[in-house]
Amino acid sequence: MTKKLLKIESLPNYIDGSWTEGNEFTSVINPANGKKIVNVPLSNDEDVDVTVKAAQAAQKKWALVPAPQRAEILYNIGQLMKERKDDIARLLTLENGKVLEEARGEVQEGIDMAFYMAGEGRRLFGQTTNAELPDKFAMSVRSPVGVVGIITPWNFPIAIATWKTFPALIAGNAVVWKPATETPIMAYELAKICEEAGLPKGLLNVVYGSGSSVGDAMVHHPDIHVISFTGSNETGIRIAEACGRQLKKYSLELGGKNAVIVMEDADLDLAVEGIIWSAYGTSGQRCTACSRVIVHEDVKEKLEGKLLEQIKTLKVGNGLEDGIVMGPIINEAGLEKIKKYIEIGKNEGARLLTGGNELSITSSEDGYYFEPTLFTDATIDMRIAQEEVFGPVISIIPVNSFDEAIEANNSVSYGLSSSIFTNDVNRVYRAQRDLDTGIVYVNAGTTGAEIHLPFGGTKGTGNGHRDSGIQALDVFTEWKAIYVDYSGKLQRAQIDVE
Ligand code: NAP
Repeated sequence: MTKKLLKIESLPNYIDGSWTEGNEFTSVINPANGKKIVNVPLSNDEDVDVTVKAAQAAQKKWALVPAPQRAEILYNIGQLMKERKDDIARLLTLENGKVLEEARGEVQEGIDMAFYMAGEGRRLFGQTTNAELPDKFAMSVRSPVGVVGIITPWNFPIAIATWKTFPALIAGNAVVWKPATETPIMAYELAKICEEAGLPKGLLNVVYGSGSSVGDAMVHHPDIHVISFTGSNETGIRIAEACGRQLKKYSLELGGKNAVIVMEDADLDLAVEGIIWSAYGTSGQRCTACSRVIVHEDVKEKLEGKLLEQIKTLKVGNGLEDGIVMGPIINEAGLEKIKKYIEIGKNEGARLLTGGNELSITSSEDGYYFEPTLFTDATIDMRIAQEEVFGPVISIIPVNSFDEAIEANNSVSYGLSSSIFTNDVNRVYRAQRDLDTGIVYVNAGTTGAEIHLPFGGTKGTGNGHRDSGIQALDVFTEWKAIYVDYSGKLQRAQIDVE
């Protein structure tokens, strides 16, 4: 039934308002059962070049449309997404595997972002200030950068795209978007909605293809002025190097190694709920997933017992089925990576309390499933406590004090999300100050960001930019300082006269 929602065999690119058939294709696989869903084109650098030219022409006109009018189209987009939320969510589960209620939540983030950025159409605030000379006016305004390149991962195939696309559009830019090859259907759905919502042609373009061909061509294209990327550190560094050589602006949202800290005074049942949700939601394949639990020795055994009890109840399977709380892993490579880290953890001396194996689900034979896994007695120097596994694997790290907990949290090269469970108000304030991450939660897990706040991290999680929130506008605009001298004579600033 869900497959029928798509109604086509091969996805077309969406270039300059036209649906363009590809020449070469690869298959999109449903991770829940290993079956093919649809074909997706493998485009090349010539396709990118044609797209950028069209986007440039469209952007010139779009930049002159008053922002409140641009906003009207974003409102339409949000409304259409809202009307089709359930169908889009089903297709999202089909291509990505996450359970349906998470898929609905992800589509809702896109809807929220559309309305939020539409509101920016009547703000996009700059500043006015006093000039240092008489009869002179000074202000700063945001201006669009031109054509922006957006490269997105498979784990949040629609939400992340909207965090980038909608701020880019409201600010007067045109977008060339390359979605991850595993999850291209969300791009098709969003492009259809943009077309129906009245977005002029050439402003949102979707070019499918591999990162090494389409992605690389975008990064190196001289007329793409910003690259906004979310994905792995390996790819992010490659993009940073290439953009650096061209003096091109780039925004990177990369990996995480996020921890929940549980202090001895915490509400342990609440902490367990927070840990289970943020560690095993999306099968642990979130950049904000909890993969470390830093626990005070006094409550370690109790917490382990409660976690084990809960883990036993988790139903793993096809995310479209009722009652499933954990869906499949995205593909074979993802599964292999998790298995590798299980061996690494065991060899390093972490103690496996439960899980650690690939799972076979009778109703979804060729899907990619893994058991929710819990290691304990990990230490901060172990690879399992330092590196991103991107699967349903928690490592418990025991500590003896609040200070040790903060130090353990900050011991990794990433800095995306962190959380502390405690009822001590002084510790809450010290933690929010001292946890070196872009997102901090108190008495909640490590996931659950809201779109009107900045999203991103410190250290190896990125390069200082943020998605979502008004901060996203900084990626897609240049600040222009404007001086208007109405004195009728030449007034020389920066001249020191007695
Ligand atoms: P990835 O392998 O880096 O791929 C991300 C995107 O980059 C895909 O569209 C990919 O294309 C493309 N790409 C690959 N090589 C490229 C190249 N040389 N030039 C340009 N583009 C290239 O990452 P992933 O495995 O999809 O995503 C998982 C990672 O994303 C995790 O590390 C996770 O933590 C991170 N993530 C971070 C955030 C955040 O906001 N901090 C949010 C979500 C995910 P193809 O795959 O189609 O070839």
